[in-house]
Amino acid sequence: GGAAEPPPRLVLDLERLTQVPSEKAGPLQRYAATIQSQRGDYNGKVLSIRQDDLRTLAVIYDQSPSILTEQLISWGVLNPDARRAVREEET
Ligand code: C2E
Ligand code: C2E
Ligand code: C2E
Repeated sequence: GGAAEPPPRLVLDLERLTQVPSEKAGPLQRYAATIQSQRGDYNGKVLSIRQDDLRTLAVIYDQSPSILTEQLISWGVLNPDARRAVREEET
């Protein structure tokens, strides 16, 4: 992408998130629920999160941000465009 493009957003699909087995998705489910409660944002089908939150989640999952991003995309809970956000972070 060109320099004038806005950075891609990280958007969690909350409906898909409830369908992923909790032994995998549990930490992310709790993290998203915490953000929802801090914002008072309970009715969304999706939740936009901070770039920093992906870093924090990578620590929680003991993965690099790019590996975690691939995992979340494969579960269908993160928009594939998020790859670009992580690549920009690591360069
Ligand atoms: P905070 O970080 O002190 O942010 C205070 C308020 O600033 C937020 O209130 C929100 O209105 C605004 N704000 C801060 N950063 C952003 C941003 O990147 N985008 C937008 N649109 N607004 C922003 P709000 O939403 O009621 O959140 C209250 C507190 O809940 C925040 O205080 C923060 O501690 C926590 N929080 C909410 N959402 C997130 C999140 O996605 N990640 C993290 N790590 N914390 C969050
Ligand atoms: P968008 O970012 O493409 O979001 C599209 C729709 O996804 C939003 O429509 C909303 O229904 C949902 N959505 C996205 N993130 C969240 C979230 O964290 N919580 C919830 N509950 N829903 C979410 P909406 O609200 O009509 O917004 C339309 C457009 O307006 C957004 O498109 C975005 O371009 C802009 N917008 C809305 N809120 C913000 C904001 O806090 N910051 C910025 N920069 N733009 C915003
Ligand atoms: P957004 O609202 O479109 O914000 C885009 C970027 O602008 C944020 O990316 C952040 O770098 C910067 N930004 C916006 N508002 C603030 C602010 O009040 N303080 C600071 N320091 N920076 C700000 P980021 O952090 O990756 O967040 C991505 C999206 O996640 C935000 O898009 C918003 O939709 C959501 N978000 C993040 N934190 C909060 C929050 O505390 N409350 C709410 N309601 N939404 C948040």
